[in-house]
Amino acid sequence: METYDALLASITPATGRTRTILDPATGEPVGQAPVHTVEDLDRAVAAAAAAQPAWAALGHDARSAALLKAADAVERSAEELARLLSREQGKPLNGPNARFEVGACAAWLRAAATTALETETVVDDGETLAELHYRPIGVVGAIGPWNWPMMITIWQIAPALRMGNAVVVKPSEYTPLSVLALVHVLNQELPDGLLTAISGGREVGARLAEHPAIGKIMFTGSTATGKAIIKSSADTVKRLTLELGGNDAGIVLPDADPKAIAEGLFWGAFINTGQTCAALKRLYVHTDIYDAVTEELSKVAAAMPMGNGLDENNVLGPLQNRQQYDIVARLVEAARDSGAKILIGGNPDADQAGHFYPATLVTDIENTNPLVAEEQFGPALPIIRYATIDDAITMANGLDVGLGASVWSTDNAEARKVAARLEAGTVWINKHGAVDPRIPFGGAKQSGYGLEFGVEGLKALGIPQVING
Ligand code: NAD
Repeated sequence: METYDALLASITPATGRTRTILDPATGEPVGQAPVHTVEDLDRAVAAAAAAQPAWAALGHDARSAALLKAADAVERSAEELARLLSREQGKPLNGPNARFEVGACAAWLRAAATTALETETVVDDGETLAELHYRPIGVVGAIGPWNWPMMITIWQIAPALRMGNAVVVKPSEYTPLSVLALVHVLNQELPDGLLTAISGGREVGARLAEHPAIGKIMFTGSTATGKAIIKSSADTVKRLTLELGGNDAGIVLPDADPKAIAEGLFWGAFINTGQTCAALKRLYVHTDIYDAVTEELSKVAAAMPMGNGLDENNVLGPLQNRQQYDIVARLVEAARDSGAKILIGGNPDADQAGHFYPATLVTDIENTNPLVAEEQFGPALPIIRYATIDDAITMANGLDVGLGASVWSTDNAEARKVAARLEAGTVWINKHGAVDPRIPFGGAKQSGYGLEFGVEGLKALGIPQVING
């Protein structure tokens, strides 16, 4: 186990170009991130290609054993990793935030290590024995966003390593330190060259997507970048798993209990201060209980402390960067200008050093308003009134993205009927965004394709091979 300072020093380059990473809560420096180049990337890919065959040859059991040790290493450094994540990303240590994210890294590593992947016998009729196996791909590229930088990196690399691949990771330029530190800790238990983080900008990501020696890209980020990756990976016919943007709808049925669901609704929308791909971003509430739901929700929102993530009391933090803050501020002002009501929040402190935007609930808003139609990716929830369930479903399905959705009701059978009509990769009932390493997760429509987690997630990191004889 290293101290926080030793962990930070271990990822601070002694030579080469660096960039100062600033704390989004205070504007103070957190550390220096290397500015890697495409040449650095090419070297990392070559080292990964050299290390991969021996790793693949170890077999599933030995690779799983190494991943379990890597999970132990993450736990040994959990507090230092959480502190760095909090300072760089902004999310508080407490609540479903930095400590939770580091804990999830260990949990997902263990799940990837222990999920059984059996050879499937497809036909065995006495004449034909056809089996479906999964071979390693080779070197996998992992490109990630800034909202859950450690956890999403683990989602990408844990199944890749388990399946016998090497990995080159390209973290978001906003949160490189968290990923560099995580990879440093994992590498305490992995062979040299097998896993490398290359901390560069878009050009490094673009090179990874077109690189001839990369067999697959695991990408999580915006739909626009996902489309760019599809194009730049075309010439090498790379496999792709794309977890892209969302604008998840939640539908509250008229029989729901406003008080009972208020806290679940709040965290469904405001987890990670709203900077979550599968967060509740548009809430449709039946007119009969609209006032009761908005009132209960505003009571919960008013009680949630926001502030510097290192303060143990806080459960909401700043936006990670100014661009995202500006998007949230613009959308809330557009809603206000349109005549919508700001029930709570909406007036950020103009003189602050950090990127804090208060938890904001917007009511009496039209479904066509930009705050509803665009992904806000921050702490501002529009709440739309509906009269019939058909209307609610039409509005929920009206966008070209479909990552998650949720239905809130005391009648599970009724909620399941509504769920089946929603165009989303996951529909939760009486919760939103609850991911689980055993349960496949992926998007519909322009929220992407391919599944992560569970046995489907492992299969996505292998090349299917039929042996037929
Ligand atoms: P982004 O698309 O701007 O950046 C993601 C990564 O792609 C970064 O590392 C960036 O450097 C890299 N990149 C940029 N241009 C590239 C290119 N041309 N080729 C290759 N790589 C390139 O996304 P972001 O702003 O970091 O993240 C926010 C978005 O991610 C939101 O839309 C959110 O909904 C989405 N997201 C989705 C999921 C999911 O699981 N579906 C999870 C988290 C975030």
